Amino acid sequence: MFKPKHPIPVTQPFLPPLPEVTTFMQEIWDRKWLTNSGAFHKELEAHLARYLDVPYVALCANGTLALVIALQVLRVTGEVITTPFSFVATSHALWWNNIRPVFVDIEPEFCNLDPEKVESAITPKTTGILPVHVYGHPCKVDRLQEIADIYGLHLIYDAAHAFGVRMAGRSLADFGDLSVLSFHATKAFNTFEGGAIICHDARTYQRINYLKNFGFAGETTVVAPGINAKMNEFQAGMGLLQLQYMDEILAKRKAIAHRYMALLSGIDGISLLTPDPGVDYNHAYFPIFVDAAAFGRTRDDLYAHLKSYNYLCRRYFYPLISSFNMYKSLPGAEPSNLPTATRVAEEVLCLPIFPDLRLEHVDNIVDILSS
Ligand SMILES: *Cc1c(COP(=O)(O)O)cnc(C)c1O
Repeated sequence: MFKPKHPIPVTQPFLPPLPEVTTFMQEIWDRKWLTNSGAFHKELEAHLARYLDVPYVALCANGTLALVIALQVLRVTGEVITTPFSFVATSHALWWNNIRPVFVDIEPEFCNLDPEKVESAITPKTTGILPVHVYGHPCKVDRLQEIADIYGLHLIYDAAHAFGVRMAGRSLADFGDLSVLSFHATKAFNTFEGGAIICHDARTYQRINYLKNFGFAGETTVVAPGINAKMNEFQAGMGLLQLQYMDEILAKRKAIAHRYMALLSGIDGISLLTPDPGVDYNHAYFPIFVDAAAFGRTRDDLYAHLKSYNYLCRRYFYPLISSFNMYKSLPGAEPSNLPTATRVAEEVLCLPIFPDLRLEHVDNIVDILSS
């Protein structure tokens, strides 16, 4: 065991070589076109549609605004069923649309919204379901679509963790009425800040474009009360560069994840998510689940122990969204209604994983964890 001189964070962005960045910046400087559907913006939408194998990609300034707009585009109102086990932006996007989040428990296998608990939470005010592919592990998409179809609900996926994930050969971002991606610095694919909405028809794509640009349809024509959620040319250029390195980024993440899996599989009291052989993962996160009784340490002890060795893990997702002050009094937000999410939030610890993390650190983290 050793203690690195500098703290090792849970994640670190992949950055392309700086000379390549200055080359694309020169193009921006030459064009003097910084935002509003510039050349890089158009190019990145086209490249991502091909890379993700989806019909339309509408780029946005960040993932949270993309979620807010996705809900606006479909005019979702009233109540939406969602998961408490996510990053807080999932529910905040509902709040910003004056929609009440209705929290439904997760299933223990992959920590995603449990479809079997969705139906009993539907009321006459329910207009949509907002699940999250947590850690890039696919939700039970067929069952969720079936429920949405039966009840006439919109189905919008928060796919912020799911960039590039494929299930039985199909892009996970292609599911639902809409899927929302985040390209934040901490995500598997980053544009510093950024995000996108994946949609399936030209009319919806057009409507997203209105809504992300104040509703402008021409120089003097405003057709909708839009907001400003445009991605700028610097972000789009970073995306284009990053995309060229995606195979390398994913291969490095995979090697780290597989090393963790091999080393951690036999440890009493530590459990991992079981990968589905039909899924190509992006390995954006490496969560472990600590059973304090069997492991002999609580999750928080382990977190502090690793921190004392300069490994900064994160408890994604603790606390649950439903426990924050602005949500905790909502019907259904009480822990007794969310037993699995409540337990998992107490057990989960995300270990460092990022393309430049050396495998000797993975070995060291497991040694420290077992000591
Ligand atoms: C990162 C994240 C978001 C927010 O995306 P930003 O681009 O940071 O605004 C939303 N939902 C989930 C699940 C996330 O992890």
